[in-house]
Amino acid sequence: MKMQLAEIAKAVNADNDIEQWNELEVSSVSFDSRKVTDGTLFVPLSGNRDGHDFIKSAIDNGAVATFWSSERTDIPTDFPVIVVKDTLEALQALSRYYLMKINPRVVAVTGSNGKTTTKDMIAAILATQFNVTKTQENFNNEIGVPVTILSMEPTTELLVIEMGMDRPGQLEFLSNLVQPDLTVITMIGEAHIEFFGTRDKIADAKMEIIDGLKEDGVFIYDGDEPLLTERAKSVSQLQKTFGRSENVDFYPTDVVATPTTTTFKTNKWPDETFEIPLIGEYNVNNALAALAVADTYQIRPANMREALKKFDATENRTEWVKGSAGEQILSDVYNSNPTAAKFVLNAFTQVPTKGKRIAVLGDMLELGDEADEMHAGLAEDLDPLQISSLYLIGTHMKALDAKLIDRYSSSQLHYFSVTDLSALIMQLEKEVTADDLVLIKGSHGIHLEEVLDALK
Ligand code: ATP
Ligand code: MG
Repeated sequence: MKMQLAEIAKAVNADNDIEQWNELEVSSVSFDSRKVTDGTLFVPLSGNRDGHDFIKSAIDNGAVATFWSSERTDIPTDFPVIVVKDTLEALQALSRYYLMKINPRVVAVTGSNGKTTTKDMIAAILATQFNVTKTQENFNNEIGVPVTILSMEPTTELLVIEMGMDRPGQLEFLSNLVQPDLTVITMIGEAHIEFFGTRDKIADAKMEIIDGLKEDGVFIYDGDEPLLTERAKSVSQLQKTFGRSENVDFYPTDVVATPTTTTFKTNKWPDETFEIPLIGEYNVNNALAALAVADTYQIRPANMREALKKFDATENRTEWVKGSAGEQILSDVYNSNPTAAKFVLNAFTQVPTKGKRIAVLGDMLELGDEADEMHAGLAEDLDPLQISSLYLIGTHMKALDAKLIDRYSSSQLHYFSVTDLSALIMQLEKEVTADDLVLIKGSHGIHLEEVLDALK
């Protein structure tokens, strides 16, 4: 971006007079002093430490100006500071101003799972015909969204924004901040159910993404999810649905999984075969959501196909790595919840193997009172003929262990507490051979990355 300080001061309604620095050029905005470069406006935010403590190092790294909270009395006069009541609100106000100035069309993506994957697919496809800016990494909250907006090149035609949510009101705020032209809800799962109580309440909170949707905007969502179809009845904007059943606008036919890719056709363009460089049938849903967006912007099907085939899925956290015994490991150690775990188990069982399939499953955290029940529910997706060896870790996994004790023999079913990861690793290393496939999945708090590192 490129803005003069006077323009910024006006956009955030600065409390002080910065006249002597009016024409100073700002070329980027950052709240992380380590990421500041020449020309950056630094935004001190309060976190574990007050961001004002980092202003000096931001200046050392090239910051040309900074926001400054009016609650502090030590306002410097020898450096360009813009005094504001609240630095986060000022960041948001500035992003709102910049968004109106550049005026791209905005696509906002939310959902319990698949936001980042879908966002990356959408951006890759739209980029074949438009100038696109997208959310970097996972910057999807009330700080990340403004930062994404402010990262836009002035020539941006389409902005693809991921929006996360872990409490009611958050998406309402973000949606009104960006006023999207198109909103996507990938799916309703159980993420954060501890805070919400029911999937109904999660669906209500996700629907807040409609709040700022333009009147002539488009709402794209999982049409096989009754919680969404029910709520969509009161949405006046144009709607498009995707899913697996024939009741939706975009559904797949001929899904084929290989160890590293998934191909499918869709009812919409029966002559095209789409390929994604990811496993997991749920990624077909993500791709269909992306195709529904692409259709709205009249992308040519051949461009959709080429973009999906090589889209940058580097941020996808389900990845194949090779273990030291030669085994293939499907690793997803940063995040787990019942919906995602079921999908990954299904994807895993479809990968062909000469050896065994071994699953290492850690507790799924933040599920509240029903946690044990939800863990036990994974039993539906576990068959010793498909996944012949299981390592379960964590307090809640005891419930699944109990459920499986009749189905799996004691040499196939192993339970460990979280403090016993080293014993698990020893046993697993003894068992695994070059022909095996190993799935490792659990919430970040269970630290299954230690198991992954040991196997690697
Ligand atoms: P976060 O809330 O951490 O930002 P996210 O919604 O951005 O997550 P992704 O990073 O795209 O989601 O995917 C995270 C994991 O969720 C994947 O590795 C996979 O296990 C699961 N997942 C992705 N898409 C779906 C889907 N459509 N349905 C169910 N599970 C999915
Ligand atoms: Mg994400």
